[in-house]
Amino acid sequence: MIKESEFTAKLTTVFKKNGMTSLLNSDRASKLYKLTEYMLAENEKYNLTAITEPDKIILSHYADCATLAKRLPKGIRVADIGCGAGFPTLPLAILRDDLSITAVDSTAKRIEYVRSAAEMLGITNVTPIAMRAEDGGKNPEFREKFDVATARAVAEMRVLSELCLPYVRKGGSFIAMKGKNAEYELSAAARAIAMLGGAKPIVETVALVSDTEELSHPLIIVTKKDKTPDKYPRPFAQISKKPL
Ligand code: SAM
Repeated sequence: MIKESEFTAKLTTVFKKNGMTSLLNSDRASKLYKLTEYMLAENEKYNLTAITEPDKIILSHYADCATLAKRLPKGIRVADIGCGAGFPTLPLAILRDDLSITAVDSTAKRIEYVRSAAEMLGITNVTPIAMRAEDGGKNPEFREKFDVATARAVAEMRVLSELCLPYVRKGGSFIAMKGKNAEYELSAAARAIAMLGGAKPIVETVALVSDTEELSHPLIIVTKKDKTPDKYPRPFAQISKKPL
């Protein structure tokens, strides 16, 4: 792992190049450095990330999650569905301490890691929960209780919409951080989104640069205009075998 001063210089350059300087301060940069050290140290035990070079971690994990941090209104409740090793949860919590983030993943080990990383960093605005997303979507403690549900790299849009939209309150939104073939997935998911109470999706492109690399992918934003019918989400076997 590189020295903290070198990491901070790289991080600052990437955030500046992408117009996100206002999200960074020295405390946040130092937390992102500690998170990187911790994630790399724990990677073998928990199988957290295939990206292990600091430059790539800064661009593909931190700057990417910062694009979400930049968009969210102040003080809202966010559900990160399928948070894995804490993306976007952990960078989002560091860069936006006004947010209250519930991090959901079905893998207990990953949630254990997110909890210990948050504790190590002294982050208090994250609640990690080991559960299946479709179980949480049925539970009155979580159902329609969030201003925003988000997910990065979890499932295709029809499946993801059924997992995420039940968490969102009417008037809130579902923001999917998607890979390249999202436009194709989205046309197949239009019906599912409408059935789950979502309005017509908006697609925005996230385009990021560093000194050596470029990264771009779509962000799909769905406003929740109606409540999700009680019968959704269905058990996962049905969601995946017969997507809406
Ligand atoms: N969001 C993280 C990221 O961008 O690095 C993790 C992505 S990882 C490829 C997908 C994660 O979604 C895994 O950790 C998996 O356990 C979780 N997942 C998949 N289906 C799920 C479900 N039905 N309920 C909860 N978690 C789920």
